[in-house]
Amino acid sequence: MSRVYNFSAGPAALPLEVLEIIREDIPDWQGTGMSVMEISHRSKEFVGLAERCEANLRELLSIPDDYSVLWTQGGATMQMAMAPLNLTGPDSTVDYVVTGSWGKKAAGEAGKQCNLNLAADSSDKNFTYIPDESGWQRSDDAAYLHVTSNETIAGVEFHFVPGGDVPIVADMSSAILSRPINVSDYGVIYAGAQKNIGPAGITLVIVRNDLLEPARDNLPHLMMWKSYAESDSMTNTPPTFAWYVADLVFQHLLGIGGLDAMARINQRKAEKLYAAIDASAFYSNPVQVDCRSRMNVPFILAHASLDTRFLGESLAAGLTNLKGHRSVGGMRASIYNAVPEKAVDALIEFMAEFERTHG
Ligand SMILES: *Cc1c(COP(=O)(O)O)cnc(C)c1O
Repeated sequence: MSRVYNFSAGPAALPLEVLEIIREDIPDWQGTGMSVMEISHRSKEFVGLAERCEANLRELLSIPDDYSVLWTQGGATMQMAMAPLNLTGPDSTVDYVVTGSWGKKAAGEAGKQCNLNLAADSSDKNFTYIPDESGWQRSDDAAYLHVTSNETIAGVEFHFVPGGDVPIVADMSSAILSRPINVSDYGVIYAGAQKNIGPAGITLVIVRNDLLEPARDNLPHLMMWKSYAESDSMTNTPPTFAWYVADLVFQHLLGIGGLDAMARINQRKAEKLYAAIDASAFYSNPVQVDCRSRMNVPFILAHASLDTRFLGESLAAGLTNLKGHRSVGGMRASIYNAVPEKAVDALIEFMAEFERTHG
């Protein structure tokens, strides 16, 4: 078996320990004589999985009892529509802070459903910073404030929680489970699974219970958070395999010491990669230092003409998926939970050698 170091932005690396359990489990899951993909989501085995999965997630994130844990399909993108649909009426106003492409997309969805106020927007500098909170133009009567905790493309992360009294709705797709958070700072947290949770196909939504009642009465069943809350997320057939893998990932995280332990590893990984970039005259990261992402590290080479060579040689060295997003150019190393520290060490070593030979 040959595994590479995978820096994909998503779907992203999964822990090898989890993949090995899956391989073992597939033909005969829990003595059922079937794989987890072949059994009813209403079987006692699967319901047991769902209960353990939620209990473990609640432990990992210290989710308070007055919050519901929902699992949906449709990815984070569907939650960009479900948030305004569930939290607003057509005459409501919502505040959006747009610090990257995902936030822009979320704001676009909200604008279709209610009055959109762009409280702040960092597109003037190609989404390389978070505008100072004191300058945000917030409305008096917003139903909520939306932020993207980590902008996966430009590599910009909130290192603070915005103030104010209205519920904060946060897209945490690429930051969830990377460190402890205070769930009660938020009204709603949503995250597609394929960065830090598991395979694509399942989406996590954490909603404060008083926000579950939809503000409109004509929503399709599957577009109402309340439906998921009332059915233990078995409103219709859920993506059982993705749910099963998420359960294994949560068990794995608890096994390594939970999010405090994970955060320490992630901090070391990010610090050493940024330090290597900053120490070099050949590589650079364009993001303002106090809002750099710990999960997605974009960097550009001194000469874009070397990009193709960098990608070819890194691939040959067993380092994959380093190509940057087309809107940013250059490279991007996504160093999610399942990317081991030794992968970051190998990348740093490769970068130094590439600079020595081509810089
Ligand atoms: C990946 C990503 C999305 C899109 O997620 P889907 O599951 O593909 O809908 C949205 N927001 C952020 C911050 C992301 O990283």
